[in-house]
Amino acid sequence: MIYHLGIDDHDSPFGGCTTHFGLELIRFMQKKGIKIIGYPRLVRLNPNVPWKTKGNAAVALTIEADMNLEELGQLIWDKSIEYVKNISHGFEYKRKPGVVIVKDCNALQKMDVLQNFYIKAVYDIIPIDLAIKVAKSIEAIYMGSRGIIGSLASLGFEQPYTYELLTYRKMENWKKPRGEVDLDSLIKFDEEYFPYVFGNVDYIKGKPLILSHGNDPVLYGIRGTRVDSLLEGMKKIRINEEFYDFLIFKTNQGTDSHAKKGNRIYQMFYDKVIVKEINIIKGGDVIINTVDNQRILVYKETGELNSAAKLLRFGDEIEVLGGIKPSAKFNKIIEAERIIVLKLSNKNIERNPRCPRCNSSSTSRGKNKGFKCKKCGFIFNEKKSIIEESRELSIGTYQARYYRHLTKPIFLQLENK
Ligand SMILES: [Zn+2]
Repeated sequence: MIYHLGIDDHDSPFGGCTTHFGLELIRFMQKKGIKIIGYPRLVRLNPNVPWKTKGNAAVALTIEADMNLEELGQLIWDKSIEYVKNISHGFEYKRKPGVVIVKDCNALQKMDVLQNFYIKAVYDIIPIDLAIKVAKSIEAIYMGSRGIIGSLASLGFEQPYTYELLTYRKMENWKKPRGEVDLDSLIKFDEEYFPYVFGNVDYIKGKPLILSHGNDPVLYGIRGTRVDSLLEGMKKIRINEEFYDFLIFKTNQGTDSHAKKGNRIYQMFYDKVIVKEINIIKGGDVIINTVDNQRILVYKETGELNSAAKLLRFGDEIEVLGGIKPSAKFNKIIEAERIIVLKLSNKNIERNPRCPRCNSSSTSRGKNKGFKCKKCGFIFNEKKSIIEESRELSIGTYQARYYRHLTKPIFLQLENK
């Protein structure tokens, strides 16, 4: 029998993470004769959720097991509790792990329900009651608490996708400082496999982006659109720490899956707006006020996005992608991660015509009285010439400089949609 299994909220600041639980679960299930089908999926959900776990990611697996749903559920849930108690100590950090399992079937309706739930979970806030209602409607079994939401949502993810190869630290090293990546080897890999790899190097700071931090059991993760490039990367990137194991995940990272049109706090915002005015506030952040009274915040740290925002002005038409956050001053504010300048409201400037005799500039003699040359004094009749004003800003895409899991890098070509 084929089952789909979702897990979430197994991380904690103490140690452990949901993908690492996924790895341990795969190793455990394989020993029990359970087959893993296809790639495990690493599914990023709404980045604006205020109580999110680090990176807000859930993991989904498809498996083939000779047991019924209840037996399988008990087996997985026991492992989940064991992991949270002994490895992540998650309950001490108020973590609320969850597990969802659903029988595979060809009923399209079931897949539709899951896909719609996933789409919602990537840009919106979902209450646990709704997750449970949806789980019941497709005869899924669920265990745990808040993690049920992400677990269920992860089961609806199919495409578009990229891959991430994660390597895991040996447990005896967890409390020791993490190994250091040889930056030259990483850059060499990143350049060789461009544009099929992304989010691996911060070229502005000259630092690797692949390393995990703190007590995360992940040593490093490399991202790209092709599995063979990532496997090459594992060989080519030099790091002075041996890893314990690795997994390749299919993931929604870098796919813009969160680019959906919301309007409430903690949802995503994705829409076209007309600029009313720009306020540059202390420290260099920019607030864009729109004609329909939206406020868009562009942090200084976003680099070229911030510089572009400073050059916007009344009448410009832009498309904005960002998270809607609460604001004490404005009630809500959109934190922009990307702006596409669609149309610039260039003004047409009228100029007095040049003298037909000596080509010097002229002055107007008053309405309908013609012009007088400034140099030779010639008086003539001519229409004013109209010149389109030039702007420092050009039409195009401006994106936040820092890496964000779901945001598609400008250069990235997805090979699936
Ligand atoms: Zn003249």
